[in-house]
Amino acid sequence: MPTSEGIIHGENGKAQKLLDDTASQTHTMTLEVLGQAPSIEKFMALMKHVFEVSDLIGKQFQKMFPIEKPLACKSGCSFCCSNITVMTKPAFAIYALYYSKIISDGLAYDHAAQQALTKHQDCCLLKEGACSIYPARPLVCRLFHSYDFNECLAHNFSRSGTSAEFGLIAVFNGLEKGLKELGLDCNDIAFNQAIGLLLSEEYIAEKWLAGEKVFAPCYIESRQ
Ligand code: SF4
Repeated sequence: MPTSEGIIHGENGKAQKLLDDTASQTHTMTLEVLGQAPSIEKFMALMKHVFEVSDLIGKQFQKMFPIEKPLACKSGCSFCCSNITVMTKPAFAIYALYYSKIISDGLAYDHAAQQALTKHQDCCLLKEGACSIYPARPLVCRLFHSYDFNECLAHNFSRSGTSAEFGLIAVFNGLEKGLKELGLDCNDIAFNQAIGLLLSEEYIAEKWLAGEKVFAPCYIESRQ
């Protein structure tokens, strides 16, 4: 796997160009889509596209720089979603909750509401040991990998990187740069608390999209 310095300083020019182009395109698209008459529908379409691109770029990077040992992560394993405070950004919390509203029969949404509002310790979108919004899971969840199941079993988490993360980070850096330039709050927030807020008060997402700092009660700093 390449080091971040290796990629940044041109160990592989093709990889660096891919990262730069991806970040730049995502930044431009964010400004174009949300710069004029922003709406939740436009935001959801943008985020869907951004997640699809991030998955594609992640796969490209994994192909270019295969990992040297197998990951311990597999379907049905959810230690890293339990008994933790998931830290994310408002855009990811909004996308996750709105996604949960529109998938399947709404059961994921009902489950999230129940878990978030009862201040459950596990991630409120964890359902029966699996992520109920897997395609829309926040960036942090995409970056978390483990090479050692026993470490996870002991809840001794230390994030192990894969080459895919360079692509993911480039996409989301472009998104965040655009959101910040549009005056939208990108502070670190507690995921469960943000979902609870979205469920308990009206127009939170719309207010965020209008530049209001409605997620301030969920800032990670304000909880310390
Ligand atoms: S959003 Fe999904 S992947 Fe992320 S912590 Fe919650 S259940 Fe786990």
